[in-house]
Amino acid sequence: MNAPNASGWRPALGEAGEAGAATASGDRGLHFEEPLIFELAEPGARMGVDLDAPSGDVMPSLARFRRQAIPALPGLTEPETVRHYTRLSRQNYAIDLGPFPLGSCTMKHNPRLNEKMARLPGFADIHPLQPQGTVQGALDAINQLATWLITLTGMHGVAMTPKAGAHGELCGLLCIKAAIAARGESRDVILVPESAHGTNPATAAFAGFRVESIPATADGRVDLGALRARLGPNVAGVMITNPNTCGLFERDMKAISDAVHAAGGYVYCDGANFNAVVGKVRPGDLGVDAMHINLHKTFSTPHGGGGPGSGPVVLSEALSPFGPLPFTVRTADGTIRLIEEEDAAGEHPQGFGRMAAFHGQMGMYTRALTYILSHGADGLRQVAEDAVLNANYVLRSLDDVLHAPFGAAGPCMHEALFSDDDLPDGMTTLDIAKGLIDEGFHPMTVYFPLVVHGAMLIEPTETESKAGLDRLICSLRSLAGRARAGDATLKSAPHFAPRRRLDETLAARKPRLTWQGEALPPQPPSLSEIGGS
Ligand SMILES: *Cc1c(COP(=O)(O)O)cnc(C)c1O
Repeated sequence: MNAPNASGWRPALGEAGEAGAATASGDRGLHFEEPLIFELAEPGARMGVDLDAPSGDVMPSLARFRRQAIPALPGLTEPETVRHYTRLSRQNYAIDLGPFPLGSCTMKHNPRLNEKMARLPGFADIHPLQPQGTVQGALDAINQLATWLITLTGMHGVAMTPKAGAHGELCGLLCIKAAIAARGESRDVILVPESAHGTNPATAAFAGFRVESIPATADGRVDLGALRARLGPNVAGVMITNPNTCGLFERDMKAISDAVHAAGGYVYCDGANFNAVVGKVRPGDLGVDAMHINLHKTFSTPHGGGGPGSGPVVLSEALSPFGPLPFTVRTADGTIRLIEEEDAAGEHPQGFGRMAAFHGQMGMYTRALTYILSHGADGLRQVAEDAVLNANYVLRSLDDVLHAPFGAAGPCMHEALFSDDDLPDGMTTLDIAKGLIDEGFHPMTVYFPLVVHGAMLIEPTETESKAGLDRLICSLRSLAGRARAGDATLKSAPHFAPRRRLDETLAARKPRLTWQGEALPPQPPSLSEIGGS
């Protein structure tokens, strides 16, 4: 499928690795090899502003703080600084450049209306320590968002403050821990399916639980029999992702919850994949006790270098009393109060503590509420339907050239899963992923979930048009064809990126996060050397 498809797109490299009609890196000649900013200029070499030489008079009490040398900052003019960072930004891939098909991560377009609302001064320029009477609008927005999250999930309460999905998991497990302690019990095991996101077992261990793994069935779902057999008096609960990380709906979710509850445990649901079911299914109806929602996935707020996350946790009636402070309530006179103290009027005596110093990520709340209000309940349901439709389009457009381990079992949810089973010896998932960089796309999630060999997990999201999906599919078909033909050029991809293949193990094990170059951090010249007094 190297011929142009309906949308006129041609893969960057043809089957023999020759350049195609539409190489994604056409402006490559304009990309510089960009040094680190410390390599560009020594301290004091140049400056973006003209400053008067410091005067001799220093308040006597401050004299000992006086700087003896200029700080070890690179000395660049303003245009040099702007160009350095702009050139670096051009070496980056972003959702504003093209699809970001990372499975499980839900990288979707962040509507610009969200940004406009988040920048309104009444949301952007306020301080968490302002008197509550002066920030009623912002508190009302938090309260409205909380109400939407509770309604959409059919749950009883919500802890808004966690700052990311994994932080939300910790919040939910600390609620479970507090609830178990309040019952005077000492259950200490959390059951986690094999297909779980790595954060689940990590969070459970961090919260002080022992983690035990539950196997998956041949059709990629939790083995209900194995789960039932493991339940008992030391099991605090389960952590289940639904839809799971194979992109499949856990059909037995209600039976799982009933069994766990009957055995005295709680059900944590990893709701990072809520995008696939929002408006269609309410986790509260499935017996879930706690579930984090990644505002930065389902509700389109930017993430992955684009902004901070936000991971509110919805709670069942059983767990709500144990949720963290602070939280908002609407009082009888219509004002919103942020309950900040454990002992305020004797309210919330069982809360486990707090996850954050203040109310949480205001910018993310504003963006998410804007997204929700501009879609409405019907629009959100269509989000889920279109996300699932797009993923199935990807699945069925590729399952003749890439092995889809659960493809025969019917449609997928929001992400399409492939394995390396159909690739010839010597060709790997990594080669396809690196080849995709040359095609001008960010790679899909690779080697996760672990239950599938050489996994490739593709989540297109609902914000891609059919023409956009066709481009991605066309490139992936070309790559699959080259891999199946044993094309050696794929082994050395990417050819068009600023870097080829990196030593990823070294990068993960021994990251060098600070400049350690020769003679740097440099000995800064003294102020007198550059004309100061
Ligand atoms: C993204 C994700 C998480 C973690 O969320 P963060 O906001 O990155 O901490 C947990 N589980 C699943 C399934 C995810 O996709």
